[in-house]
Amino acid sequence: MRDEFSPKDKDTLAKRVGYHCSSPNCRALTAGPQEDPMKVLNVGVASHITAASPDGPRYDNSLTSEQRSSLENGIWLCQKCGKLIDNEPTRYTVETLREWKKQAEQNALHAVESGSRVEALNSIFSGDIDVIFSQSRSSQINLKAFEKFEFPSEVAKKNILAELERRRKNPALNPLFNLPSMDFFKETPLSEMNLDDLNKELDCVTQKYADADCYALYETHSNKFNLTIINHGTEYIIDGHIELYIPKNERIFISDRIFNKPSDYPFRTLPAINSGYPKIEGDDSSTTISQNTGDIRHKIPQRAFHTDIRIIFSQELIGQEIECLCKIFGKNLPDPIEKHLKIIVTPS
Ligand SMILES: [Zn+2]
Repeated sequence: MRDEFSPKDKDTLAKRVGYHCSSPNCRALTAGPQEDPMKVLNVGVASHITAASPDGPRYDNSLTSEQRSSLENGIWLCQKCGKLIDNEPTRYTVETLREWKKQAEQNALHAVESGSRVEALNSIFSGDIDVIFSQSRSSQINLKAFEKFEFPSEVAKKNILAELERRRKNPALNPLFNLPSMDFFKETPLSEMNLDDLNKELDCVTQKYADADCYALYETHSNKFNLTIINHGTEYIIDGHIELYIPKNERIFISDRIFNKPSDYPFRTLPAINSGYPKIEGDDSSTTISQNTGDIRHKIPQRAFHTDIRIIFSQELIGQEIECLCKIFGKNLPDPIEKHLKIIVTPS
């Protein structure tokens, strides 16, 4: 007597893997239409992981009849693979089949969640990948060395010192007290501040203009670059992730965020927005810039980072070539794909 699966359980097994064969070497679609518009073509089978009867493959006599015919003991395969696993039970062990089942169900879930195709999860990605700088369309890019400019805090400091100098020359200009500003959102102009307040202003100028300085440095005066991934293969790289390693150098500055433009009144600057900016981490040897890319589609060039990276090179690096390593990770990549990139620092 064979412990068969119920029709309902067979249907459940098939649906849990999206009607695809669970063998990682196959993944064939097992259902489709018949010529009769009312009928369904089924080339799938609910196979037993441990046999339904004592003379069958992988029979486990410790199971009860219910356990043997339960969903737990079934795996959805195409007819060809169903035959194959039963003909060679020593090659296709219980452990192997359980792993196939688990993987096939995970793939189906991932395909449903991400909208990608189950077949894409089938095999190891074997195509060619190019990683280039988006701006130069090449594996090499010229980026400019830092050019000196006046930071907002330096400008503010100069203005305060000039006002203090004006007062020193003409002490009659010192107001006895500060008039309250007519506009709540505007600060008292320097010319109307008393000496005490001017000196206080001078003490805190660096701190007060810190955000404005960062904005000027990283948003206005930095190099901005991105990478483009070109998948020359015939399938997606599933759930991609990119890491770019830039060798550690105290003359290279990489912003770890995007700085918002400070408003006219520096105390009211908004917090920095980081959404979309890659993750920046450093250790003794390199700075790692990383981000998840999602599926990397073939034949469609794709930006690696959601937002351009802000980077600054000090003048001493002019003429130097900086070798960077880029790694692409993916669910269907057993080893990451490695690419070499080069940054050449040029005079500003
Ligand atoms: Zn198959």
